Amino acid sequence: MADYVAPLADMRFALTATADLPALLGLPAFKHAEADVIDAVLDEAARFSGEVIAPLNRVGDQTGSRIENGEVRTPPGFADAYRQFCAGGWNGVPFATDHGGGGLPWTIAMTVQEMMGSANMAFSLCPLLTQGAVEAIAAHGTAEQKKVYLPKLVSGEWTGTMNLTEPRAGSEVGALRTRADPDGAGAWRIKGTKIFITYGDHDMTANVIHLVLARTPGAPAGTKGISLFLVPKFLPKADGTPGPRNDVRCLSLEHKLGIHASPTCVLSFGDNEGALGYLVGEENAGMRCMFTMMNNARLSVGLQGLSIAERAYQQALAFARERRQGQRIDGKSGDRSAPIIEHADVRRMLMLMKSQIEAMRALICHTAAAMDLSHHHADAATRALKRAEVDLLIPVCKAWSTDLGCELTSLNVQIHGGMGYVEETGAAQHLRDARIAPIYEGTNGIQALDLVGRKLSMNGGAAVKALLGTMRALGQDIAKDKRLEPMREPFAQAVEALSKGSEWMTAAMAQDPHRASGGASALLRLFGTVVGGWLLIRQAQAAASLIDAGTGGEFHQAKIATARFYAAQILPQAGGLLTAATSGADELAAMPAGAFA
Ligand SMILES: Cc1cc2nc3c(=O)[nH]c(=O)nc-3n(C[C@H](O)[C@H](O)[C@H](O)COP(=O)(O)OP(=O)(O)OC[C@H]3O[C@@H](n4cnc5c(N)ncnc54)[C@H](O)[C@@H]3O)c2cc1C
Repeated sequence: MADYVAPLADMRFALTATADLPALLGLPAFKHAEADVIDAVLDEAARFSGEVIAPLNRVGDQTGSRIENGEVRTPPGFADAYRQFCAGGWNGVPFATDHGGGGLPWTIAMTVQEMMGSANMAFSLCPLLTQGAVEAIAAHGTAEQKKVYLPKLVSGEWTGTMNLTEPRAGSEVGALRTRADPDGAGAWRIKGTKIFITYGDHDMTANVIHLVLARTPGAPAGTKGISLFLVPKFLPKADGTPGPRNDVRCLSLEHKLGIHASPTCVLSFGDNEGALGYLVGEENAGMRCMFTMMNNARLSVGLQGLSIAERAYQQALAFARERRQGQRIDGKSGDRSAPIIEHADVRRMLMLMKSQIEAMRALICHTAAAMDLSHHHADAATRALKRAEVDLLIPVCKAWSTDLGCELTSLNVQIHGGMGYVEETGAAQHLRDARIAPIYEGTNGIQALDLVGRKLSMNGGAAVKALLGTMRALGQDIAKDKRLEPMREPFAQAVEALSKGSEWMTAAMAQDPHRASGGASALLRLFGTVVGGWLLIRQAQAAASLIDAGTGGEFHQAKIATARFYAAQILPQAGGLLTAATSGADELAAMPAGAFA
């Protein structure tokens, strides 16, 4: 079996049963995207990710990117695969057709991204960063910037980077010190050091376009005084081709736990005369510009948790079918050792992986579809509702999925036993690769604060109330179906736990945010757990209807079994999470920093 085979059946089911793709494709914005075109895109993305990108995952881990004579070299095969990636149009799937993009819904782009991320997370980071640059320039760039940079970034001929982090400015972006001074000719000279810059330099393209946050002279302190600049590695000539080298260089690459193939650079801007940079958007509006692309970037990183968990699941399943150890506890395997998939505990681990992967996929699909509707639905009120839903769900998609990415890749190691802990099988690589996703693009702790500090209380809590109402309605619906009814009670209890937790947290944050924020991560976990359950039950309901109509099969039976497992084994965690989110915060507050021994 190939290392990675895209789970097209589940992806297609999520796209229709969760994201309502046919309705989405009915919007005028997507009139060019016929259903058969989408089908062909998914089939080809599956082939390309499995045949071209996935085989480079191991060599990428073992070789890593290196710096040689000041130039960054990606692992063997990466540059050629990237060339094929661009030639196939994969870089531009969701971007506007005006700039050479495919103009497809984000819902489809995210499904394609899931495949690329599963195939090779380190490779897939490069287009992910370019995506941020495209969005920033498309939303805030001048006409000239759009003309010069967008076609090349959309096609992937050039790649983009996002430069926020500095040694003293990580989560606290407002502490950054990189300076931008006017050069007297309408541009700026950038000086400063950025760290941890993904694909900050590499040998896959002729140019790299850095988007850099910096302070202009006299700018207010903190996030209000940050501006966004476009700083090309090579300054484009009049004909658009790369010209002289700019004053920016990669000082070193980080040695990391995982994603070894992705060059994580320390970049020095302005060792000499200052790197030439061009303002994007207004002066001091850099953070606002970053917010434009934050939802997509966070959804894409949440997706990495799903991607890497899927890759690990496929490996775990293959191993569990093949590896024989011990007899079944009920003697049903006879004298011969049974494949370990026959042992209930291994089955438990596989089901934990499968059910939570499908729940994550459903959540990300649902959120991506809401994002598309928030931009393109004909009705303004629907657009606003969808925007609020996206804002609410983004921190959950990012943090819940990336935490699960770590947990489920760890379960893959466990299913492999000792063979998971040694490097030969590659199981350890997935766990190492997964570990970054809860850290970058706003740590998961910061996501939890965003959820409880801003998102729950938006418009008087309207978004969370609407979601709870929808979930309660589903609970009543499934009572009538014998196959689904066993999920009713655990689901109803989980929804009430989320309702209580959200209410408690909103009030507590208004009263004593420091104390209440101690329960933020538990509340976010509760949120993800319940919303994931809701979407799986909805999928089970859709599967049951197809079975009743005579068009369902084994896949649909498995959908019901998977949702029932989730309802029986995972949803009951909601009660404990509610306690941790609420009373747990008191215990944290009772432990002063000096008392840790
Ligand atoms: C491999 C890799 C790739 C990266 N790629 C990029 C990139 O391309 N561009 C870029 O700009 N950056 C990038 N980063 C940087 C990344 O975004 C930061 O590491 C991340 O934002 C966290 O900042 P920090 O490392 O300084 O941790 P810190 O901010 O020091 O956080 C340390 C811990 O404290 C917690 N914490 C911090 N502040 C608070 C608070 N106010 N409330 C509660 N908890 C808090 C955090 O959650 C975390 O657990 C990358 C990092 C890595 C490792």
